[in-house]
Amino acid sequence: MDEKQKNNNDKKKQYILLTVLGVLIIVLAGIAYLFMMNTDKIDDKELAYTELINEINEGNIEKIEMTVGSTTAKIKLKGVEEEKTTIIPSTQAFVELIQQKLEDGNEFEFIQKPTNVFVTISTTLFSLLPTLLLVALIVLFFKMQGLGDKGKVYDSETIKSKVKFDDVAGLDEEKHEMIEIVDFLKNPERFNKMGAKIPRGVLLCGQPGTGKTLIAKAIAGEANVPFISMSGSEFIEMFAGLGASRVRKLFEKARKVSPCIIFIDEIDAIGSRRTSSSGAESENNQTLNQLLVEMDGFDTDETIIVLAATNRPEMLDKALLRPGRFDRRITIGLPDMRGREEILKIHAKGKKFAEDVNLKSIAEDTAGFTGAELANILNESAIIATINEHEAITNKDIEEAVKKVTVGLEKQSRVISEKDKKLTAYHEAGHAIVSSQLETQKGVKEVSIIPRGLAGGYTMYKSDEDKYYISKTEMEEKLVALLGGRAAEKIVLNDISTGASNDIEVATGIAKNMITKYGMSESLGPISINTEQDPYELQMLGEKFGDAIGAEVKILLDNAYIRAQKLIHENRDKLDRVAEALLEKEVISAEEFQELLAR
Ligand code: ADP
Ligand code: MG
Ligand code: ZN
Repeated sequence: MDEKQKNNNDKKKQYILLTVLGVLIIVLAGIAYLFMMNTDKIDDKELAYTELINEINEGNIEKIEMTVGSTTAKIKLKGVEEEKTTIIPSTQAFVELIQQKLEDGNEFEFIQKPTNVFVTISTTLFSLLPTLLLVALIVLFFKMQGLGDKGKVYDSETIKSKVKFDDVAGLDEEKHEMIEIVDFLKNPERFNKMGAKIPRGVLLCGQPGTGKTLIAKAIAGEANVPFISMSGSEFIEMFAGLGASRVRKLFEKARKVSPCIIFIDEIDAIGSRRTSSSGAESENNQTLNQLLVEMDGFDTDETIIVLAATNRPEMLDKALLRPGRFDRRITIGLPDMRGREEILKIHAKGKKFAEDVNLKSIAEDTAGFTGAELANILNESAIIATINEHEAITNKDIEEAVKKVTVGLEKQSRVISEKDKKLTAYHEAGHAIVSSQLETQKGVKEVSIIPRGLAGGYTMYKSDEDKYYISKTEMEEKLVALLGGRAAEKIVLNDISTGASNDIEVATGIAKNMITKYGMSESLGPISINTEQDPYELQMLGEKFGDAIGAEVKILLDNAYIRAQKLIHENRDKLDRVAEALLEKEVISAEEFQELLAR
């Protein structure tokens, strides 16, 4: 929190600076303009050049005074108290003319003053000032652009972490593994004397929001050492070589405050596989190489632990994972039911709940949620309770919060036509009916045609247990359930809509994974192909192989779609009942759904 605030303050300061500079430029421009007006406006004291020549010829001049290099001359006429000014078109010619006149016998005083160095410098500076300010403005602007949201670039963040292991719910095994690192940071001599080697680099793998940053901070907090953090994306800069020098500075800083923790978030941004291409890639390589050099250069008396976080460990350059570098990997998975309950308990602290609220049952309903999402749900529920002017957070507030976090905000204002409503009703009823007829699919928890986020409606499924493995049959039936929406649209309305695009995308993704990741294809057998990681992998395997994959994926999807249509035909009466109920009530609960099926 306070990190963000600090960044915000920095940004504010820069904005103020920008504004001040802008105003300054405008004011100076104004002054310069007035000056120019002034020089034009001395006409009552001005003597036109032709008049001056006349006056010289007529012998009326007492004194002419001019500064070398200047274009104006001061003229004193005989018998006139006031001095006049004349603008000289060509200084050289004028001086020659005067000398000619003096030689010809005209009598007047002619004084040529040397240039005043100070005046010259100041006028030059003054004329350059707007340019200088503009340059400053542009530099500042570009700097701010480069900063993005981060607020500052040149410095990593050093904080004194107050997070303790008790603030991290679940993850008992992971915490256990971390205890030796904490001990090492607290008492490195003991380990060194024994000749024990502690891993210097630990890779934390896991989805966003699973608590990687949290556990890294907890290690620093438990060991009571400084926590120096930087995000991998911050190393990537538009100026070549900057990334490497930042890595150097980061480690320099760490060596000064050692024992300490260095935390590199999103390490995949710098540590992804080195390729031979140029540009940004080679910049990454320099940064990555510097990181490797720094980690290899650790002395035994330097007590620095480098923790890095990533969601894509398979993208990392293998060199990063060699002994002495990030040779310890800890994978943080999604929390299980007990873990979810504990996370909820931690974030329920300081919040007021109604008596019927049961954190355990929330935990039961939130399989697949990350710690961050659970924390978010409780926070949202407190906001919703406040808006609804409840005494305490009720179960209904929490349900609302769950929906808000999962499907986006309820769009009550969106006006939907009757036709769209019918289409959505049959689409969602199609999902619900089809999945209810499939052995492996989870029970329906709620069906709704109230639009949320981008979706026109939604079907929520019960989650009865945490699963670690999914069978082929279950995946195949998942495809059928996903295509149930489109099948219902086609059969009932004899038309199809774009509403199923997300379903189709998800289904295609699953089908592809079944073939290329889980080896579930009969003809291709157990093989893993990751074209995202290596675009040439398919080329290597041959064109026919690629064709075979495409054919297998298509067969899976086609079969699922046929099965979905069959189920819709067979259960047409149930489908109609559910769709009609949806059109009437907009939302159907699990009990109502069961009742409609049984009727
Ligand atoms: P990551 O770095 O993996 O993206 P974070 O550590 O930033 O995730 O987690 C975001 C927030 O989610 C944390 O600040 C915390 O509030 C909550 N959170 C995540 N996991 C846990 C957990 N195991 N226990 C308690 N809170 C958690
Ligand atoms: Mg994080
Ligand atoms: Zn759908």
